[in-house]
Amino acid sequence: MRLKDKVAIITGSGQGIGESIAYRFAWEGSKVIICDLKEDLVKKVEKKINEQNGTALGAVADVTNAADIKGLVEKVLHKFGTADILINNAGITRDVMSHKMNEDQWDMVIDINLKGTFLCCQAVLPILRDKNYGKIVNISSAARFGNPGQANYAASKEGIVGLTRSLAKELGPKGINVNAIAPGFIETAMSKAVPPEILNEKVKIIPMLRQGTVEEVANVCLFLASEESSFITGQVIHVDGGRYMP
Ligand code: NAP
Repeated sequence: MRLKDKVAIITGSGQGIGESIAYRFAWEGSKVIICDLKEDLVKKVEKKINEQNGTALGAVADVTNAADIKGLVEKVLHKFGTADILINNAGITRDVMSHKMNEDQWDMVIDINLKGTFLCCQAVLPILRDKNYGKIVNISSAARFGNPGQANYAASKEGIVGLTRSLAKELGPKGINVNAIAPGFIETAMSKAVPPEILNEKVKIIPMLRQGTVEEVANVCLFLASEESSFITGQVIHVDGGRYMP
């Protein structure tokens, strides 16, 4: 087991990529904290893991709310006594061309994707710093390079890269690895809503000629949360079928 007895907090893990990460980690021996906004989603994932001999703790929390996140970390400490891994996966889109974007659409995306990631890191850091150990994985996006209609989202996801690199430099001396994953086009509820003609156009320019799966993102997340990546920090790994090549 690659994460035996580790304690991992995974935000936005009630569905999609975060849910898949939660299962991948749980089956590798990690105790997982399922954090999301909707109680029914949290309970569904928590129940599935606990029923299959894993260990999950559900917590409804909003990553933009510092008090919620503080409460979440207290709950984790009360139940498990520590934390080892933080996966900042909660994220949203509010796509609209910049000339039509209102302030709320800008603020909401930056608040959840970027500020939420920072608040969760800040809340967990005292624990990781004290034990001179920890793994943080932030979920960015291939959209960080910019997309029409995604100025807010691209800014938040490129912001996550700057945050990741800064934290990696701050925390390297403390034995804490901080990395990011930039998924490309991944098959989720979000992408199923894309009209087939647009989907085909998007897939045509991916060298592997297909969308990725949530499991393919979870696999890379597992690698970055495990000891196998012990000398990797401050990096962005693109999981995008070759769409971006540096
Ligand atoms: P998803 O299915 O919508 O899952 C994200 C979860 O985060 C949702 O359950 C959402 O709840 C929750 N969430 C939203 N705001 C939150 C908050 N303030 N506090 C706590 N939880 C919150 O999305 P996904 O496709 O799995 O994406 C997961 C991550 O990967 C995101 O950061 C996304 O930007 C990134 N990503 C996805 C793709 C893709 O193709 N799917 C590609 C690149 C990057 P609600 O549904 O209630 O809002």
